[in-house]
Amino acid sequence: MDAEVIVIGGGPAGAAAAFHLAARGRAVLLLEREPAGRGKPCGGGMAASVQRWFPFDLSPAVEQVIRRVRFSWCLEDPVVAELPGDAPFWIVRRARLDAFLAEQAVAAGGRLLQPLAAERLERQQGLWRVGLSDGEMLTSRAVVIADGSGSRLAGAHGLGPARPRYAATVSVEVEGEVAEPDTARFEFGLVHHGFCWAFPRQGGWSIGVGTFIGQQEADSEAVLSALLPSLGLPGDAGVRHRGQLRVWDGHHPLHGSGEAGTGLLVAGDAASLCDPFLAEGLRPSLLSGCRAAEALDLWLAGDEGAPAAYSQRLRSEWGESMAWGRRIAQVFYRLPKVGYQLGIKRPTAPRRIAQILSGEMGYGDIAQRAIRRLLFQKS
Ligand SMILES: Cc1cc2nc3c(=O)[nH]c(=O)nc-3n(C[C@H](O)[C@H](O)[C@H](O)COP(=O)(O)OP(=O)(O)OC[C@H]3O[C@@H](n4cnc5c(N)ncnc54)[C@H](O)[C@@H]3O)c2cc1C
Repeated sequence: MDAEVIVIGGGPAGAAAAFHLAARGRAVLLLEREPAGRGKPCGGGMAASVQRWFPFDLSPAVEQVIRRVRFSWCLEDPVVAELPGDAPFWIVRRARLDAFLAEQAVAAGGRLLQPLAAERLERQQGLWRVGLSDGEMLTSRAVVIADGSGSRLAGAHGLGPARPRYAATVSVEVEGEVAEPDTARFEFGLVHHGFCWAFPRQGGWSIGVGTFIGQQEADSEAVLSALLPSLGLPGDAGVRHRGQLRVWDGHHPLHGSGEAGTGLLVAGDAASLCDPFLAEGLRPSLLSGCRAAEALDLWLAGDEGAPAAYSQRLRSEWGESMAWGRRIAQVFYRLPKVGYQLGIKRPTAPRRIAQILSGEMGYGDIAQRAIRRLLFQKS
């Protein structure tokens, strides 16, 4: 056997799982298809509260600390919210975050195989067999599938939704001077069924457009040619990257069942955990990576119920909030102007939004009141 656990995918979910398994003394192998240092289309916005899941300091991956968020409707009617605490919301550069977490996994005793892709995953004679792009085969007792939004392995093994739901995204990195480097911007009126964001990073911006309802992508060129000049940038600046982001769409088992699914867990985007309202995917990826490692460590020590407890724990720690997030998204993005006026412009909204973004509060805490307000338009 090559490892106790093979983790497929070295993004935040997989690297977090590999680190926590290695830190518990488990023989873990982390497979990453792409070469080190590759960037990913991602705003990089992340609640600083994720630090509590790691014993090492995450600040080497942090580019900017956000202290304020600015919301607008068609670039006007702004709402500004101060975020509570010292450093509640971070902007990370993805290439750095992913590589840093993988380095920590290796420092804790894990093995990283990169660039190397898992092409097949089969269960044979009580072990998992992972067929690699170089023709080799690896074996292990357990597997974490963490191969991201494009995952083929999760569905093939009956994990997560049978038909995942996707948000359409366009992201663009732009170099330039940032007037307010501690302010993240969210613009709601320009995008049909979605929003755009502009997050400051070192020496520029990470900008994106996301559409959350329906299959139709936003007219991102029109959106960007309005948004970029509002930041003092040329309307055609930067290179556009289009993508599909799996978003949360109901509670589903995140562990395999029966002999065919023994010791198999799915984490991160492959598990469809990303927030369907604000596209927050880093926090649930890190959370699920940590929880998957805890569960497999227990399972390897003989606790047969640990994989099912993993699905249940993700449901209570994340999924229950996302169920409300999805309902809010469906109402908000269908009636965005009403949502902006009655939701975001409420006097208490800046504080609530700040609490959501800093991870202090879940959607469930605010949802019942918000939906009642949006549906019945009571202030
Ligand atoms: C435009 C855009 C902006 C975003 N902005 C934000 C944001 O500001 N804040 C936020 O919280 N979230 C954001 N997200 C979501 C966030 O990027 C994802 O939720 C997060 O990357 C998920 O992490 P992951 O580890 O599950 O998947 P990934 O980061 O996709 O990692 C999966 C890894 O698996 C590897 N892989 C795939 N197949 C194989 C294989 N067969 N064998 C080996 N390796 C494989 C891939 O190369 C990849 O490195 C954004 C997403 C998009 C598209």
